[in-house]
Order: sequence, then C-alpha cells, then structure tokens
Amino acid sequence: DQTQVKSANGGAIGMRAIQKWFGTFQAVNDVTLDIRSNEFFTLLGPSGCGKTTLLRMIAGFELPTEGQVLLDGKDISSLRPNQRPVNTVFQNYALFPHLTVAENIGFGLKMLGTQKAKIDSVVKEMLKLVHLEGRGDNAVTQLSGGQQQRVALARALAPQPKVLLLDEPLSALDLKLRKSMQMELKRLQLETGITFVFVTHDQEEALTMSDRIAVMSTGTVRQVGTPWDIYDRPAERFVADFIGETNFLEADVVSVSGNKARVRLSSGAEIPAAFPADLTPSGKVTIVVRPEHAQVSAPSPASLLRGVVHEVVYLGTDTHFHIRLDDGKAFMVRQQNARSGHSGFSKDDTVGIGFSDDVAQILRD
Ligand code: ATP
Repeated sequence: DQTQVKSANGGAIGMRAIQKWFGTFQAVNDVTLDIRSNEFFTLLGPSGCGKTTLLRMIAGFELPTEGQVLLDGKDISSLRPNQRPVNTVFQNYALFPHLTVAENIGFGLKMLGTQKAKIDSVVKEMLKLVHLEGRGDNAVTQLSGGQQQRVALARALAPQPKVLLLDEPLSALDLKLRKSMQMELKRLQLETGITFVFVTHDQEEALTMSDRIAVMSTGTVRQVGTPWDIYDRPAERFVADFIGETNFLEADVVSVSGNKARVRLSSGAEIPAAFPADLTPSGKVTIVVRPEHAQVSAPSPASLLRGVVHEVVYLGTDTHFHIRLDDGKAFMVRQQNARSGHSGFSKDDTVGIGFSDDVAQILRD
C-alpha cells in the first residue's frame, strides 16, 4: 500500500550562509539555499564544485565552518548524523555483503531497536516498493548492479526519513540501466513523498529528473530554478555553457520595458530579449540563443543574422549547421530533419539565420 510509505509532511532543508573550509581550502563559499518539502532537488555542477560537501553537511557527516543547516525551520547543525531524519544512498551502494537482501533493508530499523514483526512488515513493503518481491532471502552478492542499487534505496527508505540524499547513485550503472533507474527514482520520490536531494554532474540527468536544480561552480550556487529556467533562462555564462550547447552573441541594449529589453545585434537587427529578474540591462550585453531555437534559410532582409556555412553535420534526427557569421563569430543551428532528409544547405552556402521573439536571453556579466 503506497500510502503507508508516504512520509509525514516536512523535509524542507534550509542552508544559511554556509561556508566550509578544509584547512586553508574553501570548498563551500556562502551558500544560502532552500529545498522544499517533497521536492526532487538536484545539486548539479562539475567535479570538485562542492556538491558532495554540501550533501555531507545536510547528512551531518561534515559540520559547516560557518552558517546553519535547518530542517523544517529548526537548526540541526549540531545534531549527529543518526539524530537527523535524513538518510544517504551512496554511489557504491555500501551494502553489507554477509547479510541477505532483507537483512540489509531492515538494518537501519534494527539499529533503531524496532520490533521484529514491524521490521518484517516494513521490509516486505520496501521489497515491493523497489520491485524485488520474493528476493528477500537472496545474498546481496547474487544480485546485479541495478538490483543492488534498489536494495540500497530500500534500505535508506525503510526508516522513513524526511530527506533522502543521493550522491551520484547511478554513476556505476551502464547507460541503459541508468536510464531505467532514473525513472525508478522519480517514481519512488513521487510514491513516498520524501524530499530527495540528488547530486550529479550529468546535466541531462538533472534536467530529466528534477523539480528544481541548483547549478554550482567552485563552492557557490550560481542559479536555482526549474529545469526550464536553467535551460531556457540561464542567468549567466557558466550556467548557459554548462547546460547544453549554446550560442553567445554580443548585443547593444536599445530600450527596456518591464521584463523585456530590445537589443541590437551586430547585423543591425533589433530583437526582444528576456533578462534575469535582478538585472537592469544597459550598454553592451551578451545574449544566449540555443542552437535548436534558430533556423537557417536563404538570406533575406528578414534574416536576423547572416553567415556562411562551414560545416554540416547530419545526426539522423537533426542536422547541425556550423556557421561563420558576417562579424567573424561562430554560430550553430540545430534543425530537425524533415522526412526527405536534406535541408538544402551545404558547406560554403551563404545563409540567413532567424529565431522567434521569445528565445533570446541576456546574461549577467
Ligand atoms: P565530485 O563530483 O568530484 O565528487 P564535488 O562537487 O562533489 O565533486 P566535493 O567532493 O564536495 O566536490 O569537493 C569540493 C572540494 O573540496 C574539492 O576540491 C575537494 O578536493 C575538497 N575536499 C572535499 N573533502 C575534503 C577533505 N576532507 N579535505 C580536504 N579537501 C576536501
């Protein structure tokens, strides 16, 4: 019964001005972040940016040098890991090889002094939840990598934590298994209503799984938002670059009205552009246009930009056009292929580039 494993309300995490120093090295620099109750929240960033350190401070394995960790508004900074209603799933599963599947899943409850009958019923429920019914008596060493990861998840969920921390839990799995475990994790989060805080450096994984994402770089949070915000409305160059392919264009701000600006491109064309809420754009700015939001066509007075095709890459579903603009800059267009296949443009063709009114985004400096 799914409702039995639904967490009680709660599980909101607050991080307040957190700093973490390891000797003279600062791993986390002034992070303030709110993770909502029942949210699938992802910490995304390149290796070494401080994701794991942040996660370990939520778990209590590390203490912040400065700042507080809050759970549902209460300061838990001084609680030991086992005093926090928080559990962690690690990349390497960390299962006990000498215990059965059921014993692994029941381990946390046993440590808490839970009665055997209660443990048995929770374990049964957990086996069902992770689709391992009937495997309770197996040795964990008899299971595949994906099955072991399910056991690790069941073990972490069994004591009904308010928050589940997941540190790159899928990175040891092959691509196909990884994709199916992504769906599985999403389902588990929805069914249990537990707050999931997921760490990954894989942008596609973050976009497909998360309610919201915090993009991190060198110990700081650069932007927090929904996958759409992060991909379509990046606030700065690092975020735009880290998440997917993109074009950067220089432009001049002509006017600002409400939350839209008009900018002039190097070609002289004027277009509307969105901008981050905390920015007042003026002067020279950098704008972002995603390759799949632009189209190539025969050059015409309506073209926003003009250039020469220097490479065409056919990718089956899409074709990439690498274009050298009139001002010498590179620009990429990713166009979906029609059934007939050939787009009609080849290397050395002069082309026009267009995009619709809602795609350009001004970046913070
Ligand atoms: P990855 O994806 O590679 O795990 P990450 O974003 O999780 O990276 P962290 O593991 O949080 O990064 O590490 C952040 C920085 O802090 C790194 O430069 C790391 O070397 C350093 N660091 C982490 N733990 C310690 C420690 N115990 N002592 C010294 N330096 C540490």
